[in-house]
Amino acid sequence: MEREQYLAAIKPRMPEKRFIHTVGVMETAINLAQKYGEDVKKAETAAILHDIAKYADIEWMENIVRDEKLDERLIGWGSELLHGPVGAYIAQSEFGITDEELLNAIRFHTTGRASMSRLEKIIFVADMIEPNRRFDGVERLRKKAQKNLDKAMSACVRHTLAFLIDTKQPIYPLSIECYNDMMNRED
Ligand code: GDP
Ligand code: FE
Ligand code: FE
Ligand code: FE
Repeated sequence: MEREQYLAAIKPRMPEKRFIHTVGVMETAINLAQKYGEDVKKAETAAILHDIAKYADIEWMENIVRDEKLDERLIGWGSELLHGPVGAYIAQSEFGITDEELLNAIRFHTTGRASMSRLEKIIFVADMIEPNRRFDGVERLRKKAQKNLDKAMSACVRHTLAFLIDTKQPIYPLSIECYNDMMNRED
């Protein structure tokens, strides 16, 4: 499928604001893919589909987790944690995407995980720094992303975890594994 077809397919599944965010992630992911030698088309498709499940019904998503034998630990965490893995399921079942790298970029875009691929890092970072994001420190993350993808990934995961701790939210195990993995690679 081409870009315009994917965009038309996701548009009715989310509010306008989320669609604008998605286009921002797409443009940022394309830029990073070009910069770091990743497959641009794969980055584009993963970015367009990354939040496709964000507004899906939670009970429906929890049933997908059970039926498709996804990580059972997801049950009870709500749509913020479910929409990545379920988004990958939708990309596969509705859009016929079979490329595991592309599916993993969607699957792990919220939490990250240990040993992320270049494409996974690009989608994770693009999601956080796309032009419509506004938060203290985002400009610093944007600059890092133009210099070094691993350092940007590391800074993004630290920012997310610091935010979760500050706001007294529980941290999903994969998020911690992602953090530990990035810190073990810091030089
Ligand atoms: P979005 O879908 O574009 O808004 O961005 P993400 O998919 O990256 O994140 C969705 C939400 O999940 C954000 O509010 C994050 O702070 C939150 N989030 C990410 N990791 C964790 C985690 O380990 N635990 C919890 N409770 N929330 C998380
Ligand atoms: Fe998301
Ligand atoms: Fe994210
Ligand atoms: Fe997003």
